[in-house]
Amino acid sequence: MFDIIEQAHLGELHFKSDPSTGLKSIIAIHNTKLGAALGGCRCIEYDCDEDAIKDVIRLARGMSYKAALAKVPQGGGKAVILKPSGHFDRKALYQSFGKFVNELGGRYITAVDSGTTLQDMDEVGRVTPHVSGSLSDGLDPSPNTALGVLAGIKAAALHRYGNSKLKGLTVAIQGVGNVGFHLASLLFKEGARILVSDVDEHKVKQARTAFQAESVSPHQFFSAHCNILAPCGLGGVINETTLQELHCDIIAGSANNQLADPEHGQQLHNKGILYAPDYVINAGGLIQVSLGLRHTSIQEISNKTWGISETLYDIFTRSKSENIPTSSIADLMAEEILYGHHDIPEPYALAKGA
Ligand code: NAD
Repeated sequence: MFDIIEQAHLGELHFKSDPSTGLKSIIAIHNTKLGAALGGCRCIEYDCDEDAIKDVIRLARGMSYKAALAKVPQGGGKAVILKPSGHFDRKALYQSFGKFVNELGGRYITAVDSGTTLQDMDEVGRVTPHVSGSLSDGLDPSPNTALGVLAGIKAAALHRYGNSKLKGLTVAIQGVGNVGFHLASLLFKEGARILVSDVDEHKVKQARTAFQAESVSPHQFFSAHCNILAPCGLGGVINETTLQELHCDIIAGSANNQLADPEHGQQLHNKGILYAPDYVINAGGLIQVSLGLRHTSIQEISNKTWGISETLYDIFTRSKSENIPTSSIADLMAEEILYGHHDIPEPYALAKGA
């Protein structure tokens, strides 16, 4: 356990069990150099407690990196709730979780994530002020995540094709859920040709109707001929299998942890496929909930979100000039911010040697 904590440079790890509601929850606070740790609460089933611990630590670390490059005054943190088996009282569970968040005195601010809803965050908000993104505060992160992905896609097109206009380019979106559907809407307005893929037929049908999209079956998605591939569903989708199937110039989507292994960033680089590092391009939701907490204007939130395109363009330029994968450049830039120049981060050392 302490090995995992030290390797991740994790600040704090908190556990809570409340048998009266079935709550079993873990909160990881990775780094608070830039501000209070902010990150969503995931409620899913885990095979064992150790998987939940590893997941929350990995996710909290990712949030520190995301906040650092999104230039928001937040640290990185995350929470997991081990989903109770069978029937449970959802309101009681989230109020119990809210008390847990409150005990940390504001060092951790929670938000929505896989398996939790804006309504759940309303329950959390009954017992703690340290929550952002609920029905009552109106800070749904998904539309702004999609806006950030659009900004990132434009930066990638500019770098790759010398023009940020998307008219006539083909973008294939995997997963037309909360983010993917909004992204399809934005791309449609830009005049892009849209391919969509989802395991949910109903969502595919909706996207086809609304955006004149064409559909691709889920198992053929990664071999689709397109300019830009936008994974907006699951993590781990860039792996040994899909790497052999790709027919795209750019990968730029909202899904977290798209690379099954950090080494796959190097493989994309070797193939000449421009990869927009996931935690940089999908930071629009974090920007929304962070600045929303401070009652920042919609215009300022939008400006900051469009700033994702500049950050990515810097990453692409530096990747090209230093011949290092974009994923390693992003890690390096985040670590420069989080740890200063004295601590040479291991991922960078690995990438240099690769
Ligand atoms: P969502 O659950 O609303 O949408 C995901 C969609 O992917 C669903 O429609 C699902 O049916 C589809 N899907 C699942 N497996 C698939 C497969 N094999 N092939 C095709 N489609 C498949 O989730 P979301 O909120 O839109 O988030 C999408 C991704 O973006 C996630 O990885 C999430 O972690 C990440 N993300 C989301 C936000 C946000 O603001 N919602 C912010 C940052 C990152």
